[in-house]
Amino acid sequence: MKYKHILFDLDRTLWDFDADTRNTIKEIFCNCKFNKQINDFDAWYAAYKMHNIRLWEDYALGKITKTALRNTRFYLAFKDFGIDDEKLGIKFGEKFVEESPKRTTLFPDTHETLTYLRNKNYQLHVVTNGFNEIQFKKLESTDIKKYFTKIFTCENTGYNKPHIKFFRHALSSLHSSKKEAIIVGDDFVSDISGAKRAGIDQIYFKPKDASEPPVKPTFLINSLIELKNIL
Ligand SMILES: [Mg+2]
Repeated sequence: MKYKHILFDLDRTLWDFDADTRNTIKEIFCNCKFNKQINDFDAWYAAYKMHNIRLWEDYALGKITKTALRNTRFYLAFKDFGIDDEKLGIKFGEKFVEESPKRTTLFPDTHETLTYLRNKNYQLHVVTNGFNEIQFKKLESTDIKKYFTKIFTCENTGYNKPHIKFFRHALSSLHSSKKEAIIVGDDFVSDISGAKRAGIDQIYFKPKDASEPPVKPTFLINSLIELKNIL
């Protein structure tokens, strides 16, 4: 067995982030009666996603804090639709952080694949850029925490993927060489090219709508169950 440690990204690799995020936000939006003021939820949600992506980029570069990211993303989306209220944006964000980890949509075959890998004596770990309180809750609400030995987040490593120090921190904490580890992730930049630069093999879980990867990963899969063919 070549690999000993399998490092799994969480959002969009095991946890069906997009479906759950949209549902959670739509529920809060309707419960708070914003649908009375903004009649096109999809247009508003598209604005939110645009702001959220930009703020995450700023956060990854260390330009803004986690609090600023959380407090601003909904505020800016509401502002685009004529509701200029910072406190309301913060409240919406708090509600989202509270509700979001309670969702439990995993990709198909997640439990079966993780069980298979554990039975083959691989050590499984999580490598995520998400925040501690959210990611730990998600792992518990989806009942997959039991498969993992270590959980590495941007907060407990002090770095975001694709920073090489994120991967070095994980390897040294696992007392693992580069060759003994492999990463599974859906994000070509954070997961695949990050791990590649750190000398770790990669399994790219290619999202349905993603274009062909610019550089060849070690392996490419279209569904989690295909891991059985590799590992
Ligand atoms: Mg991901």
